[in-house]
Amino acid sequence: MAKTKSKSRKAKPSLVLAYDLGGTKVQVGVVDQTGKILAFHREAAFIKQGKKATLDQLIRLGKEMIKRFPKIESVGVASAGPLDPVSGELLDPTNFSGPDGHWGRVPLAEILAKGLKKKVILENDAAAAILAEVWKGLAKKTENAMILTLGTGVGTAVVANGKLVRGGRHMHTEASHMIIHAGDKSAPCGCGQLGCVEAYLSGRSFAHRARADLGNETIDAPQIAARARDGDAAALKLFDEYAENLAIALHNYVVIFCPEIVVFTGSFAAAHDLFLEKTSKKLGKLLSRRNRVMNLQPKLAVSKLENQAGLLGGAYVALKASGKI
Ligand SMILES: [Zn+2]
Repeated sequence: MAKTKSKSRKAKPSLVLAYDLGGTKVQVGVVDQTGKILAFHREAAFIKQGKKATLDQLIRLGKEMIKRFPKIESVGVASAGPLDPVSGELLDPTNFSGPDGHWGRVPLAEILAKGLKKKVILENDAAAAILAEVWKGLAKKTENAMILTLGTGVGTAVVANGKLVRGGRHMHTEASHMIIHAGDKSAPCGCGQLGCVEAYLSGRSFAHRARADLGNETIDAPQIAARARDGDAAALKLFDEYAENLAIALHNYVVIFCPEIVVFTGSFAAAHDLFLEKTSKKLGKLLSRRNRVMNLQPKLAVSKLENQAGLLGGAYVALKASGKI
């Protein structure tokens, strides 16, 4: 017994190749089973050049890493969705389109497995990010956690009772397309609906709404945040509206999933000083009756994994699938 134990302690680390593929950027890295990132590369994704160019790019980046680390055993891919994690197919991702139009259904895991000659596991990027937070980040000490990635869109994922929550048909839950203000023509969503959570809370939606409100066609989210920090009343009002909508969205998520912590990541999370505390107060009011008998108020916190949660989560699913963790 003791012999086996010391043998496993001396065993060389298992290495996996991980990707994080988004609508604008791709990250690729080599990660060991302790979560240490041994190599990392990020570049603009070739989404605008089309599907083939992007797939060729992914294979090229993977081959370069495998050449440097020939001991890589398998591959995990965190990608923007929708996608089917069991079949390994992309299902026409919302923000992937190029000169040849939308991508439609793409057997990404199979294509990469052929190109790289390794087993490939595909996972939704928000799901990968929450798995990384539970593995190495802020949700380490809990079995009930949720993540909101506030970027071009809003990604959501939940771990409840220690397990990643799937919808039926093994689909990833798309909680950012929950409608919070039905028929609100000021909030069109990329999914074709009006008034979805994403239509208010993504960085892109926030900027879009703010431009209409401020009568300024070019201002972006960081510039609006800078104005708010300088005390500009119009900009502060926009963040009040943001906090109000975020509190409504979180109320709906809390009554369904009961997370103990909600982790925020993505580029818009950088403006957390302007909305997170207000959101927590508003959420407390919305949950006040429930909280009297059981405190459902989750901790709201900004990820400390920088923008590497998706990549780490990609590594996690590959390591998990091969029984290394
Ligand atoms: Zn939507």
